[in-house]
Amino acid sequence: MALITKAIKGTKDVLPTEAYKNQYIESTCLGVAEKFGYKEIRTPVFEHTELFQRGVGDTTDVVQKEMYTFDDKGGRSITLRPEGTAGAARSFLENGLCNEALPQKVCYLTSCYRYEKPQAGRLREFHQFGIECFGATSPLADAEMISLAKQVFDELEVKDLHLEINSIGCPTCRAEYHKALKEYFSARENELCDTCRERLERNPMRILDCKSPVCSEIAKDAPVVLDYLCDECKEHFDSVKRYLDTMNIEYIVNPQIVRGLDYYTKTVFEYVSDAIGSQGTVCGGGRYDGLIEELGGQRTPSLGFGMGLERLQLVMDAQNCPYPEESKPDLFIVAMGDKATLKAIEIAKDMRAEGFSAMYDLNGRSLRAQMKYADKLGAKFNVVIGDNEVEQGVAKLKNMSTGESTDIALTTFVSGFYDISMQDALKDLEINGEAFDFGSLFLGGNENE
Ligand code: ATP
Ligand code: MG
Repeated sequence: MALITKAIKGTKDVLPTEAYKNQYIESTCLGVAEKFGYKEIRTPVFEHTELFQRGVGDTTDVVQKEMYTFDDKGGRSITLRPEGTAGAARSFLENGLCNEALPQKVCYLTSCYRYEKPQAGRLREFHQFGIECFGATSPLADAEMISLAKQVFDELEVKDLHLEINSIGCPTCRAEYHKALKEYFSARENELCDTCRERLERNPMRILDCKSPVCSEIAKDAPVVLDYLCDECKEHFDSVKRYLDTMNIEYIVNPQIVRGLDYYTKTVFEYVSDAIGSQGTVCGGGRYDGLIEELGGQRTPSLGFGMGLERLQLVMDAQNCPYPEESKPDLFIVAMGDKATLKAIEIAKDMRAEGFSAMYDLNGRSLRAQMKYADKLGAKFNVVIGDNEVEQGVAKLKNMSTGESTDIALTTFVSGFYDISMQDALKDLEINGEAFDFGSLFLGGNENE
């Protein structure tokens, strides 16, 4: 196939017939975020490469292998964002949000770019719902963040995700842990992959996250980070668990989770599904107490998560989660002739101004063809207007699902449409198992007369 009609490997179109699902998921995410006090932040799709090297960590797979990095025409090294936290943190510092009342709670819906092997649930352009809470020290913040993700899943009626949590400690307790890891892995150094041998020196914890079968087999018996936590980190983790218990949120403590980014400290967590194969992590996040300082700001303990929207949708599809119905046009105006067309323009304009969706033919087609098109669009009502109707000022409004027709005055079209469509909606309404009597709405006031 010619290149110009072929999308880049690892990218995906969202077609007009599917977009309403994305809109529903995205508005649910933003709605939940708002309930927890998060406001949207929008940052550029590209940043200086250094931001990610520093912010994501140059011992991570993301920075070492997966970034879309290029020189722009001015010779600057630019990288398409592989994740959302670094950009949000940069903006937090650059725009002085760090001087406002803390915590600053921000959320975003963004595209991310990683040069990975495309497969189910793994794309080169994917989308995340992310939240960042800058400047919150208490374990309350960790538990609240975890519960926010849970509320998104609950509102979308996603089931069977399990929550795994861990604490990877702070630099103090981690020094001790790194020593133990180094000792353990050094003994089997020549079995490790090349990347991990390099990691052994710079960041041995990364080996726990290696996807190669040999390394992950060796990692299984490695020392466990939870045994090395300092008192403060241990207490913090205990409190997170206690708060989750209070919130009735179930979790599994999995000491193997280290997460793919270097900036994490203390709490890390993942929501995992078994319904979509090996790419089952739908949401991952945790605390990053050192990141803001690392980027040149004041010490600002913070935390966040990223939720993969494509993976979320895979889970929703696998579980047949309900979506709201796709919206259909309220009205299609079949217009025959010049005068009728002018009338159609007028009516459509008035309808739209009142919040209805209205359409008419844009191809000068025959009556039959217009009807067929209206049918294809799934319009709820149609109205046929020809010279006669314009002259008489009355037309027939037809309910396309029941076939029922009602006279409607063209001069007061919108209010007429409102009444008829309302009656129609109420007709389907049952109260205590009996059909709702629409007439009673208007008769109610007469009782005392
Ligand atoms: P994985 O271990 O699956 O590679 P990760 O640790 O690299 O994930 P994060 O950087 O924490 O993932 O990103 C947060 C979320 O974004 C993931 O849990 C996942 O849902 C989603 N995600 C990450 N990479 C991709 C990708 N290439 N395609 C689709 N979704 C992705
Ligand atoms: Mg990854």
